[in-house]
Amino acid sequence: MDIVIIGNGAAGMNAALDVRKRHPDWSITLISEESDHFFSRTALMWIHSGQLSHADTEPLERDVYARLNFRRVRARATGLDTTAKKVLLAGGLEPVPYDRLLVACGSRPRPTPFWSGYGELAGVGHFVTHQDLAWYEKEVHGGPSLAGGPPNAEAHLAATTEDSPYQFRPVAAEKRGRLAKEVAVIGGGLIGIEAVEVAHAAGLHPHFLIREEWFWPMALSKAESTWIAARMAEHGVQVHLEHEIEGLNGADGLVTGVKTNRGDIPADCVVIAIGVVPNTEWLGDAVERDKFGGIVVDEGLRTSAEGVFAAGDCASVRWFNGVQRPEQLWYTARDQGKLAACALMGDAVTYKRGSFYNSAKLFDIEWTQAGLVGFDLEDQEETYLEEQGAVRSTIRVVHRRGEVIGFNLLGRRYDHTVLIRWINERRSPDWVLEHLHEASFDTEFVPALSIAQGGR
Ligand SMILES: Cc1cc2nc3c(=O)[nH]c(=O)nc-3n(C[C@H](O)[C@H](O)[C@H](O)COP(=O)(O)OP(=O)(O)OC[C@H]3O[C@@H](n4cnc5c(N)ncnc54)[C@H](O)[C@@H]3O)c2cc1C
Repeated sequence: MDIVIIGNGAAGMNAALDVRKRHPDWSITLISEESDHFFSRTALMWIHSGQLSHADTEPLERDVYARLNFRRVRARATGLDTTAKKVLLAGGLEPVPYDRLLVACGSRPRPTPFWSGYGELAGVGHFVTHQDLAWYEKEVHGGPSLAGGPPNAEAHLAATTEDSPYQFRPVAAEKRGRLAKEVAVIGGGLIGIEAVEVAHAAGLHPHFLIREEWFWPMALSKAESTWIAARMAEHGVQVHLEHEIEGLNGADGLVTGVKTNRGDIPADCVVIAIGVVPNTEWLGDAVERDKFGGIVVDEGLRTSAEGVFAAGDCASVRWFNGVQRPEQLWYTARDQGKLAACALMGDAVTYKRGSFYNSAKLFDIEWTQAGLVGFDLEDQEETYLEEQGAVRSTIRVVHRRGEVIGFNLLGRRYDHTVLIRWINERRSPDWVLEHLHEASFDTEFVPALSIAQGGR
């Protein structure tokens, strides 16, 4: 059996490992353009800020390909021949034949109306891929924060295409002869705040340009977000809410600022972080795609093409509310990859997304979300509490017909496994508030949750 997997991210790599566990003798080929090794994309910011090396972000040893007899092809896939069952490659490389194929090609930055990204101003980029990271590190630090990048970083250049999201961007700092002083980050979401944080960690006071009335409305309420924006401002970030971007300014091929509906913002480095879309345009009509670009899969992760499966950010799956769209999360990519392995091996499988969870640290404010938050379901209610004692925190419990269905928690660390258990146990809002301290795992220096002591 020839198994071919496009993408060595969380979805592709977990699939490869699970197939190998059961079938030591099957041929498994991993095609990946971005990097030789599986790495944690969620940790890009820690590399930029010098807290982790590239190798630190790789969940598996670098010799895993040799040890598990995976064939690795470092090239850009440019299409599928679903009749001949072959993956076509850039750079004149031989097409790769498959019996069963998993497409796990992730996301790419959302196309930008005011910047096509190719051969235009230097000093403009994204913060999604390894190549984006290399560009942004050069603008702000003059090179990698810690010595040593990913091995073979340039290897794919011979086997890529111009429109690839894994292209290196032209570096303004190199052309200008000095590092960036004024960074502007466009787009108020998780990737945006991470791009802001790494500029702040480099001692800069970045501009943060947000179109909406408050930062990250997809995840945060106005009250929660107002607190975070105030905290960012205390750190020296210049937060600009309700700024619509009209274009970029440049001179001599270098970016000089951002044009907004409220005037120009000077900038010598601009990070565009307006979201991601499935990285699937290279597939053309070889497989059916949804209006978001996601590869439509059935509950067994099968695509419209015979023997072809999809998993991770690029796959469009059925949500709990009937909507068909991609889930662009690390945990769902991992879970789908593992399920796709079973599908590749011929098992009858059904993908059912478990309870949603996510967590991050937004500057020094911990964030944990679990369950259904922000869906505005019928009969949904919310209980919102603020803790303003020795610790500042906010607690938003979403409930429906007397049962808790979601949590959005800021300022303290919580164990989402406990929160999800309570959702599955259909606990009442009063019960979870009484017990919330049991889910918290702050460090020993942090005073205990005050609502647990009757301070509600
Ligand atoms: C800065 C940042 C922070 C994030 N933080 C979080 C977080 O806190 N929590 C969370 O849940 N999620 C987070 N995410 C999202 C998370 O990283 C993704 O959901 C996850 O990595 C998706 O995994 P994947 O395997 O589907 O795709 P990817 O990891 O994107 O892997 C795609 C693979 O496909 C390959 N590929 C793509 N196209 C081709 C082609 N044409 N030819 C050959 N190879 C190709 C690439 O080389 C790559 O190996 C973050 C993302 C970013 C960018």
